Amino acid sequence: MPIQKYAVIACPKCRIHAQIIEYGTATTKCQNCGAALKIKKLRVFYTSDILEKVISARTQLQAQMHDQSVEFGNVPEMEFVDDRPSITKHKKNAQKIILDILRSADGALEIEILKMHALDNDVDAERFEKILDGLLRAGEVYSPAVGYVRLV
Ligand SMILES: [Zn+2]
Repeated sequence: MPIQKYAVIACPKCRIHAQIIEYGTATTKCQNCGAALKIKKLRVFYTSDILEKVISARTQLQAQMHDQSVEFGNVPEMEFVDDRPSITKHKKNAQKIILDILRSADGALEIEILKMHALDNDVDAERFEKILDGLLRAGEVYSPAVGYVRLV
């Protein structure tokens, strides 16, 4: 596995400062608020061995943090190593989430309402359509009327 030289991290204390570290460093200090940061516990937003790329990733992250559009769990435009399990877990359980919503509604719901609840549970719209389609094909749910689904 190639070892990247630099990493971009964000300070979880002040949440307004992104900085570049050399990969392999164990601890660093936030240049903004002075918090002592343990690299292992931080989310690494970007890594590369090309400094220019790291600088532009850092600039981008910093700008997003200033707009407060950075959720610490979600930076879709950048490559990153995500060590936070929650999002992946939600995705894996998307089918279960959808089935659970149906079960709690006595097994039948209007598709739009089911979708609304699924979105509330972090299932994205595209994934919702795919899963619903898969469930229909697998015969786990059926459509008793246009726009409705029911558990078999
Ligand atoms: Zn800080």
